[in-house]
Amino acid sequence: METYSNYVAGEWKAAASGKTRDIINPATQEIVGKSPVSSLEDLDEAVQAASEARIEWSRLSGAARGDYLYKAANIIEERLNDIATTMTKEMGKTLPEAKGETARGVAILRYYAGEGMRKVGDVIPSTDSEAFMFTKRVPLGVVGIITPWNFPVAIPIWKMAPALIYGNTVVIKPASETAITAAKVIECFHDAGLPKGVVNMMTGSGSVIGEGIVNHQGINGISFTGSDVVGKGIAKGAVERGAKFQLEMGGKNPVIIASDADLDKAVEGTISGAFRSTGQKCTATSRVLVHSSIKQAFTDKLISALQDIKIGNGLEEGIWMGPCSSKAQMDTVLSYIEKGKSEGAKLIYGGNRLEGSAYNQGFYVEPTIFDEVDSGMQIAQEEIFGPVIALISFNDIEEAFNLANDTPFGLSASIYTENIGAMLKFIDQVDAGLVRINAETAGVELQAPFGGMKQSSSHSREQGEAAIEFYTSIKTVFVKG
Ligand code: NDP
Repeated sequence: METYSNYVAGEWKAAASGKTRDIINPATQEIVGKSPVSSLEDLDEAVQAASEARIEWSRLSGAARGDYLYKAANIIEERLNDIATTMTKEMGKTLPEAKGETARGVAILRYYAGEGMRKVGDVIPSTDSEAFMFTKRVPLGVVGIITPWNFPVAIPIWKMAPALIYGNTVVIKPASETAITAAKVIECFHDAGLPKGVVNMMTGSGSVIGEGIVNHQGINGISFTGSDVVGKGIAKGAVERGAKFQLEMGGKNPVIIASDADLDKAVEGTISGAFRSTGQKCTATSRVLVHSSIKQAFTDKLISALQDIKIGNGLEEGIWMGPCSSKAQMDTVLSYIEKGKSEGAKLIYGGNRLEGSAYNQGFYVEPTIFDEVDSGMQIAQEEIFGPVIALISFNDIEEAFNLANDTPFGLSASIYTENIGAMLKFIDQVDAGLVRINAETAGVELQAPFGGMKQSSSHSREQGEAAIEFYTSIKTVFVKG
């Protein structure tokens, strides 16, 4: 079994303490490998390396920085199978999904490599006719990146690629559960010949290395994706010391099934949105708001389609849904199922840990449906991050929009309807950063802005052209001869 290392100043290094952590395969409980448990002393070294590299890196042309990203993209593409297999072993998503995510990482790198050739400022007419005024976007300096386990390739890359192309250097702390996948991605940057210190990776606990990044005076910006609880703490720490920050957090995403919906498409979108990746997507469908007139027909079709889902080890052919990513995650999901029952929701499908020889070693939970859910129940308000949905009935479309907005979150929302008027009202009224019509709640395109409203984000956007807002500062320049 391999022990992986931190990556600091272009070198692979063990943590100073020599401590490591076992990474467990959630389908089998086998140990996938070991990763360093770092301390603040290790982090200081990484920040120092990123700091020393930043001037030279920022002085390269955007095109030259882009060349490194193209090279890293090509190397990831060559190693796609190995990276995806590691991802499946570490966090359980099926191999086809892991491959799709890794391919997305490649596409994101290529997209941002191209950004190196695009504009980084505007000319603004001065009121002084003899002066020339323009803006110039400049890098923040050293950016700290903290990422979750659920998209262990795509999220680190959609943060690192824009950070790098706009001239920042990076210290990344990946989720502890998926530290090996992260190391394999960073290895591709190393093999692309990135100058030393431009990217540094530090594994370790959130409370030590994550908080260390937030509090480190040498880090100028912090980009975080993860839970809202941790995100709020990061915001406080960053405001305290005046660092720029960006947070992408949870969701409680609704799909509305209107009375005129195409039920087959709605069922397909609900199943895919709610249960792919075992419901562990921030954009996963977790509330299904169904018009009472079609509720029975919709529910019957949903349950019948769910019976065809094949659950198991994501490395095996034909598996559609894998285990929860860890025992802790499974326990959280099972505790929400108990809460749902005790709150008086009606369990109509699933609700148990899966048993049997194929499942006993893994952290498998059945796809679960609660009916007769009241919008105020915890299972309708809190992010479960597992294969559980809450069905809530409505009688008119305005009621559905109110229900859709009735949570603290606002990441993604979708509606199935043929009625253009209902679509337009939904686009207008729903509090969500991603609004999807006749499509599942999950689904993000790398060239478009991504982020949530309300408590789902710090209100900035990632991906596409929007990323430049976080990873740069604007200088307004006034020139007079
Ligand atoms: P966590 O918030 O627990 O962890 C995210 C990252 O933060 C990990 O690297 C973790 O480290 C680190 N961390 C933990 N505690 C601290 C701390 N006190 N200070 C700084 N960093 C810390 O989330 P999960 O990994 O459990 O990911 C699931 C969550 O991510 C869900 O809520 C989901 O909605 C959200 N998410 C949001 C997305 C979005 O774009 N909106 C996309 C994907 C997921 P460690 O692993 O060592 O604990």
